[in-house]
Amino acid sequence: MKTLFEKIAAREIPAVIVYEDDFVIAFRDINPQAPTHIVIVPKKPVPRMAEAEAEDQALLGHLLLKAAAVAEETGLAKTGYRLVINNGPDGGETVPHLHCHILGGRHMQWPPG
Ligand code: 5GP
Repeated sequence: MKTLFEKIAAREIPAVIVYEDDFVIAFRDINPQAPTHIVIVPKKPVPRMAEAEAEDQALLGHLLLKAAAVAEETGLAKTGYRLVINNGPDGGETVPHLHCHILGGRHMQWPPG
């Protein structure tokens, strides 16, 4: 069965897609937590960081480099942004398909809630 994010990548669920290549897809979050809130997802349905494997090393590097590129392209690089990966219940994960949040357009608090 496809994950929610696989369905978005397959255009079975609509989303505002801002970047896509053979390995990742980035789209605007449906419930934005900042003026800019994009989710970038590996097309391979790795459930979460805890289940990533050594063979995913290049994919994970690509994900982060493209997250930075998307942040740059959406105008966040000058003022800064936050990348977030939630893992498991206490991490706040709600969709079991690894993804990195790109948040920007406002000043982020620390520590996070
Ligand atoms: P998590 O809580 O797992 O770290 O992040 C999942 C994110 O996916 C949430 O920020 C949530 O708003 C977003 N999301 C859930 N369903 C959809 C959807 O159907 N479309 C889009 N664009 N984002 C979604």
